[in-house]
Amino acid sequence: MRTELVSEPGDPARPNEDFASVGLPASGQGGVLVVLDGVTPPRGETGCLHSVPWFTARLGGALTELTVSLPDVPLADALSDALTRTAEAHAQTCDLSHPRTPQATVVLARWSAATVEYLILSDSALLLESPDGTITPLLDDRLARLPRASLATDALIDAHIRNKEGGFFTAAADPSVAARAVTGVLPRGEVRALAALTDGATRWVEKFREGDWGDCFTFVRKEGARGLVDRVRTLERADAEDRTYLGRSKTHDDATVVYVEC
Ligand SMILES: [Zn+2]
Repeated sequence: MRTELVSEPGDPARPNEDFASVGLPASGQGGVLVVLDGVTPPRGETGCLHSVPWFTARLGGALTELTVSLPDVPLADALSDALTRTAEAHAQTCDLSHPRTPQATVVLARWSAATVEYLILSDSALLLESPDGTITPLLDDRLARLPRASLATDALIDAHIRNKEGGFFTAAADPSVAARAVTGVLPRGEVRALAALTDGATRWVEKFREGDWGDCFTFVRKEGARGLVDRVRTLERADAEDRTYLGRSKTHDDATVVYVEC
């Protein structure tokens, strides 16, 4: 088995709001990966005393423990339980009903001798490679399918469509969101390798158009997780003035790549 994990803040002076872990149970038959991308709140009140990294560390830690220690519990149930546990950790001190309460995108994958399970919520990506080299991107494309006009500003997203029916969903304080995730189970023999990426890394495909998802996977296999993040940083610096590709997005975003040959 080969595993690689790179997670880097967009700004070295600010904490990384992504979380990533790989758990390899002692049985040697499988493992799990957890990738979260904490949503940076717009300026203003969040109802919470805690930082986004506090939230992603709590949620990611709980997900790592639950997915590894309870292999028979489906990933959506593990997400629901981890959200409940995280909410309980600050329900006494914070207003968890606030629309800007800390929240994150989620990618989970768990492989065993028999199956590969996956869960994707919001705009991080999971890429699977089959033994014949076919790359399948698994995405929760609710955000991409929303009318572009309604994506004018982050504040609009925040106020109108985040975690509301007809909008898109992130993991916040309500455990029922786990039922909204894209989930599935594949026979183990259909998956040779996996890559999970936050949107700071999927910029290689989605903003800079360096290639499709298959090209992206091939790049990670050859150049490594570090190679992909470094390439994105180079593209960002080259576009920082003209903003042909970046548009109104921040120049650098937290970027995480987990690569597993299972
Ligand atoms: Zn809090």
